[in-house]
Amino acid sequence: MCNKCKAALNFENLGRRNFLKITGAATALGLAGGGLFANPAYADALTKAQRDKMTPNQIIEAMKKGNNRFRMGVRKNRNYLNEQKASASGQYPAAVLLSCIDSRAPAEVIMDLGIGDIFNCRVAGNVGNQDILGSMEFACKLSGAKVVLVMGHTACGAVKGAIDNAELGNLTGLLAKIKPAVQATNYKGERSATNYGFVDAVARKNVELTVAAIRKDSPVLAELETKGSIKITGAMYNLGTGVVEFFG
Ligand SMILES: [Zn+2]
Repeated sequence: MCNKCKAALNFENLGRRNFLKITGAATALGLAGGGLFANPAYADALTKAQRDKMTPNQIIEAMKKGNNRFRMGVRKNRNYLNEQKASASGQYPAAVLLSCIDSRAPAEVIMDLGIGDIFNCRVAGNVGNQDILGSMEFACKLSGAKVVLVMGHTACGAVKGAIDNAELGNLTGLLAKIKPAVQATNYKGERSATNYGFVDAVARKNVELTVAAIRKDSPVLAELETKGSIKITGAMYNLGTGVVEFFG
């Protein structure tokens, strides 16, 4: 944890000069106020007006700030009940995510997001299919989300399974969707599931291929991106460090 953030957590012996410094740090981290993407003046779930005035890049910046807060242990003091009540009659999420089912990579937690902030598709190995594409088209074209983010993660069990040619019931077919990434990964070391360097390189390539497939297989999303209405990009979450690395 950085010194500024340690200081932000220690309110004892706080002089006015320090208070002003800390307030500045809190603002930089997006801690002041309510909803994740929200202006501090708004306390509850993201509204349509707030979401619509943000650019795709501003939404990605807000997610980066949320991940910074998560890593520093200074998460927003949000009120889930207020968010639930404020979003019950309508939702205006800013992004749609495709990420792995891994229990250690919950997007809302690791990016300090709240109820109503993002649509969330989760499937082992964060692979796409027509149903996922349909969900993303609903999220962006009909509901107004502006970012499509495919988020892989380190030490992914699905990626290891694809490398190992694991076979089990319906899992066999799912892992087959990751195998093109295994083939496409340039890697000089040992190409095995016990080599985490290779596993993580395949996971990264898998995200890249999934992002490319979204553009290719969804003319709806590709057109929105060409017009600048949305941004389609990838990210990798590091289980060891807690860092979400955005590709763009
Ligand atoms: Zn995984």
